[in-house]
Amino acid sequence: MASQGQDELVFAPLGGVGEIGMNLSVYGIGSERKKTWVAIDLGVAFAGDDLPGIDLIMPDIRFLVEERRNLVGLVLTHAHEDHFGAILDLWPRLRVPIYATPFTAALLEAKRASEPGAPEVPVTVVPLGGRFTLGPFDIELVSVAHSIPESNSLIIRTKLGTVLHTGDWKLDPTPILGLPTDEKKLRALGEAGCLALVGDSTNAVRDGRSPSEQDVAKSLTELIRSAPRRVAVTTFASNVARLRAVADAARVAEREVVVVGRAMERIVQVARETGYFDGVQDFRSVEAYGYLPPDKVVAMCTGSQGEPRAALSRIAEDEHPEVTLSRGDRVIFSSRTIPGNEKAVGRIINGLVRQGIEVITDRTHLVHVSGHPRRGEMEDLYGWVKPGIVVPVHGEALHLAEHAALARKLGIAQAVECRNGDVVRLAPGRAEIIDEVPEGRFYKDGRLIVDAESRTVADRRRLAYVGVVSVALAVDDGVLIGDPEVDVIGIPEVNADGANIAAIALETVVSTFEQLPRPRRRDPDAVAESVKRAVRATIAAHWGKKPLCLVHVLTV
Ligand SMILES: [Zn+2]
Ligand SMILES: [Zn+2]
Repeated sequence: MASQGQDELVFAPLGGVGEIGMNLSVYGIGSERKKTWVAIDLGVAFAGDDLPGIDLIMPDIRFLVEERRNLVGLVLTHAHEDHFGAILDLWPRLRVPIYATPFTAALLEAKRASEPGAPEVPVTVVPLGGRFTLGPFDIELVSVAHSIPESNSLIIRTKLGTVLHTGDWKLDPTPILGLPTDEKKLRALGEAGCLALVGDSTNAVRDGRSPSEQDVAKSLTELIRSAPRRVAVTTFASNVARLRAVADAARVAEREVVVVGRAMERIVQVARETGYFDGVQDFRSVEAYGYLPPDKVVAMCTGSQGEPRAALSRIAEDEHPEVTLSRGDRVIFSSRTIPGNEKAVGRIINGLVRQGIEVITDRTHLVHVSGHPRRGEMEDLYGWVKPGIVVPVHGEALHLAEHAALARKLGIAQAVECRNGDVVRLAPGRAEIIDEVPEGRFYKDGRLIVDAESRTVADRRRLAYVGVVSVALAVDDGVLIGDPEVDVIGIPEVNADGANIAAIALETVVSTFEQLPRPRRRDPDAVAESVKRAVRATIAAHWGKKPLCLVHVLTV
């Protein structure tokens, strides 16, 4: 245990541990009571069908808001949504300086410009490989290969030791664009001594090494060259190396490139502004698509995850105003389906196949590689850095456990498995979980940010299953005035015998009211409560399910 007054260095994940997405890590240094914090990344997760009406999930930043005065900054490792997607929504609550490399900063600015009302967020641009000081933290960027330009690991030096926060990384000696992982700097860190490594667990369950982006590029070139008619390629818009590979392949095949989808257009523009598209041919406008001969075009589309409003989904349903596909065309999914999106992607693939369109995925061709390290790559990194402690993050429970087991197998002294909200002491002494801080989730619901604990979504989910019955009755001095109103939504119209359920509910309202003792009839709350209970029970008796019930008692 740290004795009273002795400073300690801690790590606390507020998102991204035990789940894929919404990464947010904080490091703190100081006494048990008072620490200075730095935050790394502020991402989102995408909501599934289990959260009706919710688009995005974000980490609950209550803890950082409370500690705002002691928070020296927010450092971004890269521009993937799971690392920077919550900034525009949550930064106004923190108002701390943000540090990012040029591409990440440019993409954040492009995103801000496309979202009306998004706040101006001041970003300090740090050069690749740059080093800067934030309070007690001396932070140095290490370029790493990933699936977006300018992904960085962070070397965080403190008086109590040095931490390598890997961010998202992989080893790829031929990444097509951008820098390969900076092995030299990482080996030097190992020589100087690394207290702890906090690292990416995404592919810790996979043996071996990922193929290179270069191999994917070769395979795309072959598939685009050999296509008899039109080709559409869908991929994550932010994978600039992949977009470049598609553009190069199109040039080899003497085809024009058309970009379809707003997210893709935005990235292409940022890639041109930041130099990542230097030497790439000009693309044709989407309006030109219809005039180009089928064997002279490649459409680069958004929608690899089956997003219903994205380009590919609209094309597959023949609802895109400019871009159509037909029998004999080829669609390449240069992507992996994120768990949870399988149904949506399957729907699009089946729709295309039904129209006689050939669909190529990574199940049969090398058209995608992950941006995360497999076990072979992790072994290399740990050999270079030789950390004393490994803390697995960025993964679900299984990934974290496999990562920890691998670290132990590699002879690393300590592997600490933690959860969101745990405070892990890294120094001094043995690493261990010493405390907890508030953590949780926010939902983006329309324009608003709501607490995941609030009833909104739970109510909405219940509504989806059981519908609602609404009752209004007017009462004057304990006497019913006129007939009560009963409206039902999402409830079957008739019961098994063909009797109208709303009518049955209406009879229940009247009889319940009449059976109440006189003094209770004068109490609107008592009336509402009795009517509600009776209506739900009656409908349940006919339907087998209890609806939600709203009762309005108007007293005259
Ligand atoms: Zn990433
Ligand atoms: Zn990530």
